[in-house]
Amino acid sequence: MNPVCIIGIDGATFKFIDVLIKKGKLKNIKNLIESGEKMPLITTLPPLTPSAWSSFMTGKNPGKHGVLDFYELDNNFNYKISSFKLKKQKKLWNILSENNLNSIVYFVPFTYPPEKIKGIMVSGFLTPSLKAKFTYPVDLKEELLKKFPNYRISENTRFNRKNPDIFLNDILNLTEIHSKVMEYLIKNKDWDFFMGVFMGIDHAQHWFWYDKEKIEKVYEKVDEELGRIISNLPEGTLIIIMSDHGFQKLKGHFYINSFLLNKGFLKLKTKGKNLLKFISYKTGLSPLRLSQIIFKLRLEKFIKKDKESIGKTASKVGFSYADIDWGKTFAFGFGYYGFLYVPDKVRFNFGKIDLKEKDKIVESLICSLKEIEGKFVKKVEVWRKEEIYKGSYVEKFPDLIYSIDNFSFVSSWVPFPDFNYFGPSMTEKTGDHEIEGILIISQKGRKLKINKKRANIMDVFPTVLQFFKIDIPSDTDGSSLLT
Ligand SMILES: [Zn+2]
Repeated sequence: MNPVCIIGIDGATFKFIDVLIKKGKLKNIKNLIESGEKMPLITTLPPLTPSAWSSFMTGKNPGKHGVLDFYELDNNFNYKISSFKLKKQKKLWNILSENNLNSIVYFVPFTYPPEKIKGIMVSGFLTPSLKAKFTYPVDLKEELLKKFPNYRISENTRFNRKNPDIFLNDILNLTEIHSKVMEYLIKNKDWDFFMGVFMGIDHAQHWFWYDKEKIEKVYEKVDEELGRIISNLPEGTLIIIMSDHGFQKLKGHFYINSFLLNKGFLKLKTKGKNLLKFISYKTGLSPLRLSQIIFKLRLEKFIKKDKESIGKTASKVGFSYADIDWGKTFAFGFGYYGFLYVPDKVRFNFGKIDLKEKDKIVESLICSLKEIEGKFVKKVEVWRKEEIYKGSYVEKFPDLIYSIDNFSFVSSWVPFPDFNYFGPSMTEKTGDHEIEGILIISQKGRKLKINKKRANIMDVFPTVLQFFKIDIPSDTDGSSLLT
């Protein structure tokens, strides 16, 4: 049986690939396109890494696997990483194991902790450290660390606009390390299905969108590594190169909770120390303004170096979800894009809204969001959760999903960065995700017949199963690309 090799390139977009190919670069990707097909890959709503890779590995919409965002809310406003739900789901490699096929699953996001499959799993993104058990079988970790003493999971450095090359070189170096491990596994272990994911392009595009040449260097590096990987694949291998979402310029931030406050859907408690906070915001000392001062004076080195540290520090002076007056609040936003929840009595223990009132509130939220359209924002799309998701997890999802100018505005983890509801980034990110990613499909040394010009991220799962002549489960939402 011919094997399958999927190389995931987190965040890759044809915006760069097409331009670079025209310039005579990316020879390996160009060859794959010429011998096979390229097409846009439509990802999940929202175009986020957790929902996207989860839909890839299950072939299902987020309503059936439950992963919509990085975090999810329980009934008491506690939140946890939502990818834990994937444990219960049947992923592509679980079905391949049941069919006695060997898989190597390398660095696919949200595969930590690694699970027992027929084959090998090495976890990537969200693996806490090299001390963790990040491989299955467990003793593979020792073998890899011995063979690759400089192995690491993520970049060692952070983006710093004053000296951007340090971070860029770190990304390039990490890409090479991961690629060498992929090559080693392909050459030395048994497999029918290989999958490896590169994360560097996603990271480069988030931080270097203002400087395209830096991003191009990462595409060229991935292409070079891809060439080496492909040269090791046997004739007849089905090769799929895919991203989980595309990328675009980050236009700005829409602070949903500040918007709701402004429009009267949300009220803050006004007593005690909250009065002081109101004064701070009004006099220009909001978390947003403070973070801008920190960046301007480059004081961040005095702040603990974790990922969202500046936001966190700045948010201490600001309003939090705990300051919301739930008795007078009809909606709040939460998550990367700030999707909307109406805090009804059934979904939330602190909720005060009767279910029969809910529909009217949802209607008026949709109207208010649509009113943002104008000079500054071109298009606001709003969906009720039932319109776009199907499955048992939809019940707990936010009531309204929306996109501002095709997701080119994101929200903020700090719930109230400012009293203005549009603002710049509180980090220094300049690029962010979009719906349209990439898919390139080719069979080494053969000509494939493909029946679509546009793929959905859920289509890869049934495509692989069909290639291996395995029955596609009836609850799969995607459909095969092969004729
Ligand atoms: Zn991603």
